[in-house]
Amino acid sequence: SLKEFAKTERPQSSVHWVHVIGAGVMGGDIAAWCALKGLTVTLQDQDRERIAAAQGRAAKLFARKARNARDARAAADRMTPDLRGDGIRHADIVIEAITENLDAKRELYVQIKPLMQPDAVLATNTSSLSLEALGAGLNMAERFIGLHFFNPVARMPLVEVVETKSVSTITKQAAYTFVGAIGKLPLPVQDAPGFLVNAVLAPYMLEAMRCVDEGIRPETLDAAMLKFGMPMGPIELIDTVGLDIARDAGLQLTGQTNLPACLEHHLDRKELGRKSGQGFYRWQ
Ligand code: NAD
Repeated sequence: SLKEFAKTERPQSSVHWVHVIGAGVMGGDIAAWCALKGLTVTLQDQDRERIAAAQGRAAKLFARKARNARDARAAADRMTPDLRGDGIRHADIVIEAITENLDAKRELYVQIKPLMQPDAVLATNTSSLSLEALGAGLNMAERFIGLHFFNPVARMPLVEVVETKSVSTITKQAAYTFVGAIGKLPLPVQDAPGFLVNAVLAPYMLEAMRCVDEGIRPETLDAAMLKFGMPMGPIELIDTVGLDIARDAGLQLTGQTNLPACLEHHLDRKELGRKSGQGFYRWQ
């Protein structure tokens, strides 16, 4: 458990400076979390507005989680917007959290590799792409690893550490100690579709929506699974991750080709869950 992991003796993390590329839902919140935990953070995005929005969310996180206003200000000062990517040259770890697109990620890696410190780690937050494919031909496989954070970053303790055949022991150690140092629980997983958590969640979410198709109300289903001990019902979970993402994960990870009718119904109406204000539930 996280409590037990927090108590275990580990070497000091070698990561002091984190450079995050992609200031979207994930990258912005990963950057904020690292700054809250005392690390120096530079946050890069090609879109200035995404960085500004991430800083806005970060300010709320710091106000909520820091011990006092001074600590909150200090956390904000540790997180620097970086449109040009100047932080790449200084970072001990670069976390890539740009759009889920193989070619875009590979192109970015080629650009940043010569700028990185020779022993810095390159981590990707990809949910579904193969690390083998992402790193192919890049010639830095020993320093390339997956760090799969979950949404919302501030509330989800687990981080899947995706290992490849070629990653070095020193990179793995750096990744595990870094994840521990920011107060998260690292889970070693192999480079396989859905890693571990999403491979289990995708069929779970699809099955829940098939139950809705059969006439069970979302509220009934969610209440039942809460009683079973889940922290959140499956339909609320789908609204939280986004119906478009639940669709993609369901199709990619289960081999099923037919979507549940209730999911198609909401997607047709652009009802994507929390982020659009309406999914199975209303969120405004
Ligand atoms: P997002 O669309 O919210 O953010 C992506 C950001 O990357 C955008 O702000 C975009 O401007 C920026 N970007 C794209 N190309 C860039 C480039 N070349 N240089 C700099 N910035 C660039 O996406 P997200 O949901 O935060 O997902 C990011 C990554 O995290 C993806 O790989 C995704 O699979 C993974 N992930 C997402 C979730 C989730 O629940 N959303 C959970 C875990 C992992």
